[in-house]
Amino acid sequence: SAKENGKNNVQVFTRELDSQMTRKSQMEQALKKALDEQQFALHYQPQVNLANGEVIGYEALLRWQSPFGNVPPSEFIPMAEETGLIVPIGEWALRQACRDAKEFCALGRVAENISVNVSARQFKDPDFSEKVRAIFEEENVDPRRFEIEITESVMLDIEQSARIICELKALGLRIAIDDFGAGYSSLNVVKNVEIDTLKIDKSLIDEVLINRRNLFILAAIIEVGKNLEARIVIEGIELEEQGELLQPFGIVGQGYLFSRPLPPGNLEAFLSESKYIAASAAAKPSE
Ligand code: C2E
Ligand code: MG
Ligand code: MG
Ligand code: MG
Repeated sequence: SAKENGKNNVQVFTRELDSQMTRKSQMEQALKKALDEQQFALHYQPQVNLANGEVIGYEALLRWQSPFGNVPPSEFIPMAEETGLIVPIGEWALRQACRDAKEFCALGRVAENISVNVSARQFKDPDFSEKVRAIFEEENVDPRRFEIEITESVMLDIEQSARIICELKALGLRIAIDDFGAGYSSLNVVKNVEIDTLKIDKSLIDEVLINRRNLFILAAIIEVGKNLEARIVIEGIELEEQGELLQPFGIVGQGYLFSRPLPPGNLEAFLSESKYIAASAAAKPSE
């Protein structure tokens, strides 16, 4: 009967909820051990100057090879934020990016820019900029080659964030606003803080070919960014037509059209096999 079916549905539902909870708590347990067990890696996605095909830098993106297989950041980053594990994981990521950058340098490939993502939780630590300073000093890497990517959620506590941003900039780091245009208060963020780069969210490029209104909005945001003297990076370019449409704007693109995020050992092959060229190699042939 319908009544019995209803009861069965409830049972199925609770069983599913149970196994989801188990998966979540198991994953949390695994995440706690992941740093010690060296299960993290950084992959790097090239950023390409659309005007001339030069690779101007790379975004470092965390990868977790867990006992459950490869868990995407969209699943484990929120968990790491909730548990506070993002603080040591984030420090690891910055240090690893420094080490990878040095290795890339040793190959004669001076990457102009390495972007590292930092979450709001890390920004809440009043000693954050001091920790960052120590990492660059210990690793003997020039912070001026690095950019810190933050989202507008960092700006919820505007005073504390503005102070930390100032301290990071004083170290020589650049600041990028990630996922720009995806949230509620994007303009509020750029109004209050001097930022170096605006990373325009993939959602604004997704429909640009089928919906002209999106192109007008995109063009207006690019204009705002240029007036603020910020570098503009468009995220999530997948199609040749999108790249062509954006070429005249003189901006930077990042997306599967150019490359997926790659393990650091594959960057050399990417540069020699793709039609894109290393910006620093082109600019400084003697180095
Ligand atoms: P994000 O910082 O906005 O990074 C861009 C995301 O878009 C990456 O996903 C990248 O692989 C993906 N992407 C790039 N081009 C394309 C494209 O053409 N099409 C599509 N569909 N996707 C594209 P990923 O690596 O899964 O990372 C997701 C998010 O996780 C990041 O978004 C960032 O918010 C967070 N994340 C990743 N690594 C770190 C980290 O080291 N620390 C912190 N705090 N967050 C991180
Ligand atoms: Mg990012
Ligand atoms: Mg983004
Ligand atoms: Mg994102």
